[in-house]
Amino acid sequence: MKVLFVSAEVTPFSKAGGLADVAGSLPPALTPYVSSMQIITPLYSQIDLKQFGIIAAGVTGTIKLGDEILPYSLFKLENPLNDVQVWFIESDQFFGRMGIYTKPDGEGFEDNNLRYFFFQLVILDLLQQKHFNIDILHCNDHHSGLLPILVKAFDLTIRTIYTIHNFLYHGHFSKAELELLPKPIRNQLSPTQWGNFSALLEGLDHADFLTTVSPGYAHELIAGVDLDENSHKHIRAAQTKLTGIVNGIDTEYWNPEADSYTPFHFSINALEGKQQNKLELLKQSHLDDDLEAPLLGSISRLVENKGFPLIIELLDEFVAAGAKFIFLGSGDPLIADQLRQASQRHPGRIAFDDGFNEPLAHLIEAGSDIFLMPSRFEPCGLNQLYSLRYGTIPIVHKTGGLGDTVTNYQAGQGTGFVFQPYQLDPLREAIQRTLTVFQMKQEWSELMQRAMDQDFSWNRSALEYYRIYKT
Ligand code: ADP
Repeated sequence: MKVLFVSAEVTPFSKAGGLADVAGSLPPALTPYVSSMQIITPLYSQIDLKQFGIIAAGVTGTIKLGDEILPYSLFKLENPLNDVQVWFIESDQFFGRMGIYTKPDGEGFEDNNLRYFFFQLVILDLLQQKHFNIDILHCNDHHSGLLPILVKAFDLTIRTIYTIHNFLYHGHFSKAELELLPKPIRNQLSPTQWGNFSALLEGLDHADFLTTVSPGYAHELIAGVDLDENSHKHIRAAQTKLTGIVNGIDTEYWNPEADSYTPFHFSINALEGKQQNKLELLKQSHLDDDLEAPLLGSISRLVENKGFPLIIELLDEFVAAGAKFIFLGSGDPLIADQLRQASQRHPGRIAFDDGFNEPLAHLIEAGSDIFLMPSRFEPCGLNQLYSLRYGTIPIVHKTGGLGDTVTNYQAGQGTGFVFQPYQLDPLREAIQRTLTVFQMKQEWSELMQRAMDQDFSWNRSALEYYRIYKT
C-alpha cells in the first residue's frame, strides 16, 4: 500500500494553520501500516533548504496552463523524516515569494487559484510520468480538490481520499479560470449557484472516500449547519462515503515535559514548571507578574469565526474581575486593532502579539491557566488539544471537534468548560464558571490532571485512516 499525501502546507516546513500540523504528523503515524508514505507540497521561498536538508531531485518538467507552458522542478529531503519522504514542487513564478496564501498585509494573493491549479497539474504530470508509483492519493482541502477528478479523467488507476479540514474555504474559481484546466475535465465540473466553481466541492464529488477532521463536524456538515443550499446538496450526495476522524497531535513536539521552546518543563506529577513558565510569559508579555490572578491565553488566526466578536465584548468586564489575557494572532486588521486597543486600555492586564510566533505559541500553552477557544464553528481544532496536554484548561463552544474533545466540567468530572449556543451570555457564564473553579485550588488541580491525562496521540486516528486506505 503506497500513499502520496498532498498538502499545501506541512509542518515544520510551512505553516498557516492546523492543516500543516496534520500534514506533518499524520503521515509519520501511518508509516507502520503502509509500505510507503510520501508527502508532496510547494517549495515556498521561505523554506530554508539548508536548514532542512532539501536538495534538487533531478526531476524537471513543464505543464500547460491555458496557453502557457510553465516549468517546474522537484526537490526532496536528503534524508526522509521519520520514514516519510517529502517532495517539494519548485516554481519561481508561483512559489518564489514570501507568504503561503497571503501577502504580509493579510490579503490573499490574486493568483492563488492559478498557483494551486499549477500545483495539482504538476502532481498529475508526475503521476503520468510514473515518477510516483502509488496506490492511494490522499488529498487535503481545496488546494488538491481537483486531483480526484484529474486522476479519473486521465485513467490513472489510483484511489483518492479527500480530507476536508475546513469547509469554509472552497477555492472558488471563475469560468475564465476553468478554461485554463485540461480539456477532459472542463465539462465535468459543476457550477455553483453563483456561476463559479468550487475546488472543494469537486473533491467531495469525485474522491473515492471522504474524511473530515472530527465526527462532530461530519454530523454538522451532513445536517447542513451553516451551509449554503448547493454545498449541502453535494454533501448529502456524498455522505455515504464521509467519515469523521478526530485529529491527533504530535506528542513529541507538543510535550510539556520536553518542549524545546519553553524554559521550564513540567508533567502531570510535577507542575511547578508550569508556574515558572507563567511567570516567564507574564514578564515577556509585559503583564503584571502576580501569579495568583488567572491568565487566559489565545493563539489563533484572527478571523471572526474564532469567536473574537464575543471575546472582545467581554474583555473589559473580566479584566475588572481580575483576569489577565494574552493574545497571539495575525489576520483580520480590524480584529487586530480591537485587540491592540484593548491592550492599550489595560496595560499590564491584556497583551496582544500581532504575528505568527511559534515559540510564543508554545509558551502561551505552557504558561497560561486557561485557553480561550470559543470558535463559532471548528472542524477539529488543535489548540484545545495542545492546551489539554499542557494543563491549560480550555473554554470552548460546543461545536465540531471542540465538542468531541473537551468535556464540560461538573464537580469531579470533565476536562474544560463547554458552552452553547454561540452567544455572549453563555460565553460570559462559561468564563465566570471557569474563574470560580480556578479559585478552588484542589478542584482546579484535579481538573488539570484529568486534562493532562487525555490521550490525543495519533495512535487511534491513524488506525482509522489505515482502515479507509485498506478499503
Ligand atoms: P486553524 O487550522 O483553523 O487555524 P487549528 O486550531 O486547527 O486552527 O490550528 C491552528 C494551528 O496554527 C495551531 O497549531 C496554532 O498553534 C497555530 N497558530 C495559529 N496562529 C498562530 C500564531 N499567530 N502564531 C503561532 N502559531 C499559530
